[in-house]
Amino acid sequence: MIIGAGPTGLTAADACVADGASVAIVERTAHVGGLARSASVAGNEIDLGGHRLLSSTPKQRRAWLDFADRLGGVPMSDIGRRSGILRDRYVVAYPFDTRQFRASVPWPVRARGAASLAAWKLRAPTGREDHNLDEWVKNRYGPFLAETFMAPHARKVFGVDPRDIPAGWAAQRILSPGLGSVLATALPNPGRTPRPADVVDRFFYPQGGVGVLWSGLAKLLGNQVNWLFGSRVTSIAKPAGGRIAVTVAGPAGDTTVSCNRVISTGRPEDLAMSLGLDELGVAIAQRSGRRDLVVGVVHVRECPDSWYGYQWLYTHDTGIRAHRFNNYGEWQSLHCPLGVIGLEYTVPTGETLDVAVTALKDMSILLPGGAVDFLGSERATDAYSNFDASADQLGLLDEALRGFGEGVVSTGRQGAGIYINLDQAMRLGERVAALSPRHSGVVGRDEYSPYQEKAS
Ligand SMILES: Cc1cc2nc3c(=O)[nH]c(=O)nc-3n(C[C@H](O)[C@H](O)[C@H](O)COP(=O)(O)OP(=O)(O)OC[C@H]3O[C@@H](n4cnc5c(N)ncnc54)[C@H](O)[C@@H]3O)c2cc1C
Repeated sequence: MIIGAGPTGLTAADACVADGASVAIVERTAHVGGLARSASVAGNEIDLGGHRLLSSTPKQRRAWLDFADRLGGVPMSDIGRRSGILRDRYVVAYPFDTRQFRASVPWPVRARGAASLAAWKLRAPTGREDHNLDEWVKNRYGPFLAETFMAPHARKVFGVDPRDIPAGWAAQRILSPGLGSVLATALPNPGRTPRPADVVDRFFYPQGGVGVLWSGLAKLLGNQVNWLFGSRVTSIAKPAGGRIAVTVAGPAGDTTVSCNRVISTGRPEDLAMSLGLDELGVAIAQRSGRRDLVVGVVHVRECPDSWYGYQWLYTHDTGIRAHRFNNYGEWQSLHCPLGVIGLEYTVPTGETLDVAVTALKDMSILLPGGAVDFLGSERATDAYSNFDASADQLGLLDEALRGFGEGVVSTGRQGAGIYINLDQAMRLGERVAALSPRHSGVVGRDEYSPYQEKAS
């Protein structure tokens, strides 16, 4: 029994089927793909969460191309992505790049950044420790750059204070520059006008959106899996005689399924509740601060020149609530005309959001006087949670699962809708499928994708 038909659950199902097991998947929505599904809004293909596939190393590229082949040859666009932070009419590359920063940003901003780093270093000549993302960034880039560019980005995209994000995560995603290269950004650029970044990172984008991978995998699994959509597990009984009785509430009422193991890739609080651990379930739910991921889709009739070539623009957080801003028209793998923009919001579950009003208001701040049409929206309900917010409780869930009995595994962070990469989600799916059926506990809590791995 696998809970959740997102990338992790589908990959686990695939591995279990290959191993000859008989598999049922319980999915609370009507869709496969979880946070990484694609949707159609007013005839435009959009990706929720703006997904790209890490493909910097030959190994990463091979893995995606093999997977695409297995699905019958999903065409992949190989795109050099420029991603940036838009601020005061200039764009700073994201991830941060010192050369691009020097070429694109007005001198007073650069001078202030370098002065702030120099002062920060002088005040602590023996160095400072990195406990969290905030400290990690400040120790390398100085407080001004950290506060002006990186902290707003972390607050927006992950919805948490950068002090609550582990330093290890920062180290895997942000370049660690030499002190000299950050200070050198303050050197003047005589005669050069700031221009957009020319740094690119290469990523694969499946044509038609990342969702085609999951619908393709579901199709491949076909009737080798018992699909229980629109369903939830309401109770899991202690294993007896090697079997676990799982009660599933679905469109046709309650059914009880007998199985020898449960792999939950869904929300850990739901798993705790279905095991009768109500207090722990409530504690995890409270800490994870679950939210809906909402995408408002607009069309900008005349895109500013500085937005061309950018697929995502992270907006600065003064006066604008857009968490991320996906320039779908530049996606090249989606069927969208240029200027189709997705504004992503995370909204506490249950809170109403007038997406049309909000998106148009935000666009009017970003592009005063610009002609913008609202096309529609898509929502992933209750799907997104704060970054590692429930890490401590997942330790408690791990303990509880071990005490509960054999054969119940949770992938913890993943189904919690936390931002980690798809390659890792798939590896985790394979890993849980390969565990002994007697294994119980939470798996894969402290791993992050090797985001900055580059081809040598
Ligand atoms: C904004 C955003 C951008 C991202 N961008 C990228 C990117 O560019 N590249 C990349 O590689 N990764 C990206 N990620 C990460 C990627 O989306 C996740 O790693 C991946 O979706 C995790 O897959 P999953 O199956 O573990 O979880 P999910 O995708 O969350 O899927 C979980 C599934 O379980 C179901 N479910 C949950 N609880 C229950 C329950 N109790 N009962 C039944 N079903 C349940 C859900 O409906 C869902 O279908 C991004 C994530 C976000 C939020």
